[in-house]
Amino acid sequence: MATKQSNILKGALLTEFKTVASMMAIYCRDHHSGDELCAECQSLLTYAETKLDRCPYGDAKPTCNRCPIHCYKPQPKEQMRLIMRYSGPRMLLPHPILAIRHLIHERKPVPEKPLPKNSNRHHRQLKNK
Ligand code: SF4
Ligand SMILES: [Zn+2]
Repeated sequence: MATKQSNILKGALLTEFKTVASMMAIYCRDHHSGDELCAECQSLLTYAETKLDRCPYGDAKPTCNRCPIHCYKPQPKEQMRLIMRYSGPRMLLPHPILAIRHLIHERKPVPEKPLPKNSNRHHRQLKNK
């Protein structure tokens, strides 16, 4: 199972994307398709990538399950919750480093509020000007 890449994210956000992608791959393999993500999971992963890109916390982002903003729509939020619950305990063997980083990340304090203009998308757009 190859880890999915993102062309727009970097740093902590890219690590989180890889974690989410790996969790989705485990879930999809066991519930939907074979080695590749099915169309439904692929579109959820693209949705998650966009949310990571636009997350107002930027690099200081908490894990989404502890976020007070909750920018996901109800349906993808519920689907992602199911995926995390299923795949979280199954991550340690295939992806030990991502799994441990994620556990540490979940214990970090949630920032009081996002800094202004701190999203990955904002920084990307500044670079392209
Ligand atoms: S705003 Fe909250 S829910 Fe949305 S991507 Fe950022 S941390 Fe996750
Ligand atoms: Zn799937």
